[in-house]
This record gives sequence, C-alpha cells and structure tokens, in this order.
Amino acid sequence: MTEKATTALPPGSTIGILGGGQLGRMLAMAAARLGLKSHIYAPDANSPAFDVAAAHTIGAYEDEVRLAAFAEAIGVATYEFENIPVPTVEFLSKRVPVRPGAKALACAQDRINEKMLARQLGAMTAEFAPIDSLEALIKALDGGFAVPAVLKTRRFGYDGKGQAKILKRSDAEAAWAAMRDRPSILESFVNFRAEVSIVAARASDGTFKAFDVTENEHRDHILHRSVAPARLAADVAAEAIAAAQKIAESLDYIGVFAIEFFVVPENGRDRLYVNEMAPRVHNSGHWTMDGALTSQFEQHIRAVAGWPLGDASRHSDAVMENIIGDEVDQWRALARQKGGLHIYGKRVARPGRKMGHFTRLAPLGSTKS
Ligand code: AMP
Repeated sequence: MTEKATTALPPGSTIGILGGGQLGRMLAMAAARLGLKSHIYAPDANSPAFDVAAAHTIGAYEDEVRLAAFAEAIGVATYEFENIPVPTVEFLSKRVPVRPGAKALACAQDRINEKMLARQLGAMTAEFAPIDSLEALIKALDGGFAVPAVLKTRRFGYDGKGQAKILKRSDAEAAWAAMRDRPSILESFVNFRAEVSIVAARASDGTFKAFDVTENEHRDHILHRSVAPARLAADVAAEAIAAAQKIAESLDYIGVFAIEFFVVPENGRDRLYVNEMAPRVHNSGHWTMDGALTSQFEQHIRAVAGWPLGDASRHSDAVMENIIGDEVDQWRALARQKGGLHIYGKRVARPGRKMGHFTRLAPLGSTKS
C-alpha cells in the first residue's frame, strides 16, 4: 500500500503522527510551517502535541477501529517514539504508507538486533551477549565475560531505565532482579572519553543528509547538554556519518534517525563504538531548530511527505540544554536570555521529566577547541 505517497504530499495534506509527546509536538509545528496538517494519535488525553495539531485521536495503540479511522484521515503515518508496537505499524501499513517502516522499527526496538546490524556493516560495538535468566548471566560471567559490564533490557529501555551495572560477579543477582525477567543484553563497559550522536535523514528517493556530529553529556542517565559541533577529528566525524548512511540504507529507511556512539581513544586515535539507534527525531538534534538551516523536525516531515530534504548545514555553533522537571519554573529568567527557548506545554513537572530546552548560539567555528 504505497500509492498514496509515491509522489510528494502537497501542502494541505495531513501527516499522521503516532505519539503525542514533545517530539510529536515539534514535528506538528514543523509540518505546519510547510503548509501540512498533523493528526496526532496518542493514548493520553493530556498529550502536549494535541495543542498544536489540526486533529487528534485519543486511542490505544491496539485499538484497530480507531487506528483504521486514523489511517483514513491521513496521507502518510510516522511515529515519534520507538516503543510503538510493531503490530500497530503493520496494521496501519496495510492502509497507508508508514515511514519509517516496520523493519526499521523492529530493528531499533531490540538492542541485540541493533548491535548485530552495526557489526554486520563493519561498525564496532561493545561486546555483548543475550541473557534470558540468572543462570545464563552467571554462566556468561563465569565463562569470561569481563566486568565491569552493564545489563540492560533488550527492549523498551530509555533514559537509563532498565539498566544495571555489574562490577563483580556477586552483583549478578541484583542486576538480573532489576530486569524483572525481561529478555536482556549483557554489554561490556566501554571506557569512553565522550558520547556523540549523528542525526541524519534519508528521503524516499534515497537521498541522505546528516547534521553535524553532536557531543552529548548526560546527567542521571538523562541528556543534559548537546554541543554542535562535537570535538572530533574530521575523519572520525566522517566515519560516523558513513556508518549512519550504511545503517539507513540497509533498513531502507525513510525519515530522520539518530545513532549514538561512544568515542574511545585507542592507540592515539579516536574509535567509534555504536551504542544505539533511535528510529525517530532525537533530543540530541534539538539544536538544529535554532542552529541549522533546516531543523530535524522539518527534515523528518520532508522525508515522510516525499519532499526533497532541506539543507542540513549548521549556520552557528550551538549548545542545547534540556529543561528538566521544576527547572521549567525558571522560564522568566530564560526568556530574558539570548537563545532559543522551547517549552513543551506539559502540565506537570515531575522530577526527570523533559519540560523544554534552551539553545545558545555562537558564531560558526568560534567554539572549536
Ligand atoms: P543507553 O540507554 O544504552 O543509551 O544508555 C544510557 C547511558 O548509559 C549511555 O548514554 C552511557 O552514558 C551509559 N552506558 C550505556 N551502555 C554503556 C556501556 N556499554 N559502557 C559504558 N557506558 C554505557
């Protein structure tokens, strides 16, 4: 079922977005700028994306009656987060094009698939082993899997949720208990000097464009700050972009995605280890709203609507900081500062919740170390 989107959707068409959080909200705002409407589908009546969309449906991802009506109302569907059930995407795909497709979603939902794909394509990753029981974990550790290591759930982990560090064999029991019997992955601990990500897009005609590599700093497992450009040698940055392109091509990907890497100094040179992939717009690409000619949100809308990709050039150096929890109470002070203030319109500021972000700009090249 692809006839609806073999040509570019003209202005006035409707993009369906599964998920109603801040990413859906910023996608809808970018679509509106291009004269496209958005229809948000989300289970939560308080979804912040509803405020800025032409239409919305409150429905469960398993509700086939509502999903079928949603498919009737839109020209193409996309999603703002990767925990959408694959059967939901498959159901919609029979009625309307869904971009990116179910193949990319299924790969990105499973940390083992992600790592196997990265390795097949010649990229490096942490050592890893699938773990489905405490016995399997102990066997892996006794069999020589080096500590320190990290145990993570294979699916549905984000912002450090569903992860446990293993420093010694006796940590195994507590680590496995933290997985709550879910299929897991044991990863060797990577001694990185930095974390970077690439946010890039692939269009329906196969055109590929990447934003500049971004350097990311986490606090309490949540992204705190992203700096563009990353402090990385030009040839290493080019390697990150090449790896991202290979991954996108192998998945026949349409839309924006992010690949997160660990930067590891080895023999006097930085090496990149793929950590994970997000099949969607990404927090580390928020700086593009203020610092690039096309934002990642507009780029995603262009790709899924079958439009040519926009110019991904960075026009300024940029530092993006998330506004987390009650930091949003500082909005008056932030509103006085020079930079791009974005507040997501969430009603309750729970600890750890992403409430907005603020991007400071500096002249291109001025912050290069
Ligand atoms: P993830 O959910 O896989 O992105 O992990 C969240 C954060 O935990 C990463 O951004 C790293 O800071 C840290 N982390 C995850 N896996 C590893 C690893 N194998 N080695 C070292 N640090 C890790």
